[in-house]
Amino acid sequence: MLTVYNSLTNMNEPFVPIQPGKVSMYVCGPTVYNYIHIGNARPIIFFDVVRNYFTYLGYDVDYVSNITDVDDKIIAAALAQAVDETELTSTFTKAYQEDVQALGSNLAPSMPKVTETMPQIIRFIEELIVKGFAYEQEGDVYFRVTKLVEYGALSNQKIDDLLVGARIESNTNKENQLDFTLWKATTEGIKWESPWSLGRPGWHTECVVMIDDHFHREIDIHGGGMDLKFPHHENEIAQAHACFSHGLAKYWMHNGFVQIDDQKMSKSLGNFKTVRDILTQYDGTTIRTWMLSTHYRQPINFSADALESAKKFSERISLAYQGAYRKLDLADALTIAPNMDEKIAKLQTDFEAAMNDDFNTANAMTVLFEAAKLLNQLTRQAGKLAEIQAMCQLVSRFDQVLGLKLTHLQPLSPEVKVLFQEREAARQAKDFAKADAIREQLQQQGIEV
Ligand SMILES: [Zn+2]
Repeated sequence: MLTVYNSLTNMNEPFVPIQPGKVSMYVCGPTVYNYIHIGNARPIIFFDVVRNYFTYLGYDVDYVSNITDVDDKIIAAALAQAVDETELTSTFTKAYQEDVQALGSNLAPSMPKVTETMPQIIRFIEELIVKGFAYEQEGDVYFRVTKLVEYGALSNQKIDDLLVGARIESNTNKENQLDFTLWKATTEGIKWESPWSLGRPGWHTECVVMIDDHFHREIDIHGGGMDLKFPHHENEIAQAHACFSHGLAKYWMHNGFVQIDDQKMSKSLGNFKTVRDILTQYDGTTIRTWMLSTHYRQPINFSADALESAKKFSERISLAYQGAYRKLDLADALTIAPNMDEKIAKLQTDFEAAMNDDFNTANAMTVLFEAAKLLNQLTRQAGKLAEIQAMCQLVSRFDQVLGLKLTHLQPLSPEVKVLFQEREAARQAKDFAKADAIREQLQQQGIEV
């Protein structure tokens, strides 16, 4: 039984989908004004694994992750660089999609954009006004936080406590300092016609409407980084309660922070790292291995040591798989029936137990490591082809979840297989010069020997 840590209740809960056999998931996507940083890579990798595991369990997954292409930061960046906002957002949307794939994640099949959801956003705000949950002041529209009894449930805060901590803003149009902006009249940047002003929506409203526009109902899982819990997700929930009378998602999942050399990442500390920076040194599989080796709710630390050991880890597993696959291939046994013995079956049970425990990828990676060890043992022994087949299939299934892309191999051609046989014969006959020559020939064809 899969259990999920629900940030809304702060408890591990059994996962029971709203519709049997189906999982609906939404993960907040990037604001596209810059290259994404390594902190952004964590939800990209982790929630991809969550989706993969649901697929592994046989669920039909509907996965949506948006593109925030309307935001103050975009307007500021476009002005600063003297470029058109649309040009800026399309450049960084494309860069984001490339980074997602370089990290070994699949793009969400649905990636709605704010700019393409504007009529729905305006209709949603109108409805909140009609229901008394929003009010207009001089072209701006605000959400009336005090009207909602549930406000503060996700971040576990009460309105009175929040008020004590709230900054007193110069904006006196709000009835209450905690009221947040649904629509903002603007003079600068991209803007749309609305019943209230020429302006643009607030970020919290964008996500709620994109979710409703796709799913038209409460969803199973809403994910994102821990930093989005308050106010972003709290405000998404508030609007959903007000407009749809449900809390938007049944399970809320938040991943922990990424630190750099044990420090918070920030531009001012000069330790800000984009995914692209890191990809010049390490491949996506290494970054993924590193991230998945820590439980997603724990903070994770970026350091050269951590990345180097992740690299060794994934190489070791990859070599074990390749060696086993090669043995099967050379024996023309790639399609033989597997023999799942007790030891192998236990690995599968252990892997599923780890993943069922709130997607504990750290433990799942340990099981993968054990699997690589067993695979090496089996490959070294004579025969054992049916067991190797079972192990290869199992490691490949693990990899479909973890996405390390360790198991994407092609069978050797008949000509190459003949070369392997000739090399083996030369070695048996102690004709090492010939064996070496064949080895070189194989390597020239890009085949590891
Ligand atoms: Zn969001």
